[in-house]
Parts: sequence; structure tokens; C-alpha cells
Amino acid sequence: MKTTMNREVTVCDSCKRVIELCGTKCDECGRDFCFECSHSKIVIYSFGVHVGGYGDAHWCKECDHRLHMDADPRHVAYEMIQKLRAEGAAWHRDYSRRCEVAEAVTRTFHEERERAEKKAGEHLRSGDTGRHAAH
Ligand SMILES: [Zn+2]
Ligand SMILES: [Zn+2]
Repeated sequence: MKTTMNREVTVCDSCKRVIELCGTKCDECGRDFCFECSHSKIVIYSFGVHVGGYGDAHWCKECDHRLHMDADPRHVAYEMIQKLRAEGAAWHRDYSRRCEVAEAVTRTFHEERERAEKKAGEHLRSGDTGRHAAH
């Protein structure tokens, strides 16, 4: 059966296409953005330093900028999380770099020791043959 009925749909405020799923709404102005447009129009802030998802803040670029300038308390709180996340990532990058540098040094010593042991082993073996030859 075919019928015509009024159906409420959500339309993307940017490209005006009907949003079927995965749309994003700005927490401040309430404008809706489709999946494609949300990449360029929406800024997402995680609610936790190590976690994200439900509870994240979504702001359109305009609201994000205005709330930042107004030092909105909720925006400030989410910005702090974003800063800590960036700080953690930077710290981890620096930590990884220092680990690599430190490990390169121990590797050098280890290789040196291995070479020395191999050399000593060769020397011992040749010493054995020498002793056998003497007998
Ligand atoms: Zn769109
Ligand atoms: Zn907005």
C-alpha cells in the first residue's frame, strides 16, 4: 500500500539535506549538521582525559569561538580536558623519544658485550685446540 503522510525530518543546517542518521547537533545554538558537514562545522570536546563518547560536547565553529571568547564555564571546563589530553599526548611523545635514546645506549653496550664474548669464545676455542695440539 502506498500512502502519503507528514513526517518530521531533520535537515542539515549547512547543506539542507535530510539527515537520516549520524547527525550532530550544536549544544549551544541547536543547529543540526549531517555527518559530512559535521566534520568541518562541528568541534567535539571529550568529557574525560582518557575517555570520550557519551557526555562529549559538540559545538559549531561559531558557537565554539563565541563561548571561548566569553569564557563560558562549561566551555572552559571542556577546554581544560582538551588541553590535558594534548599535554598527555605531547608528554607521551617526549617520553617515547627519551625511551628510544636510552635504549639505543643500552643496545650499544649490549652489542659491545656480545662482540667481546664472541671474541673471548673464539679465543678459548683456539686455546683448546692449542692445548690439544700440545698433548
Ligand atoms: Zn550537511
Ligand atoms: Zn552553534
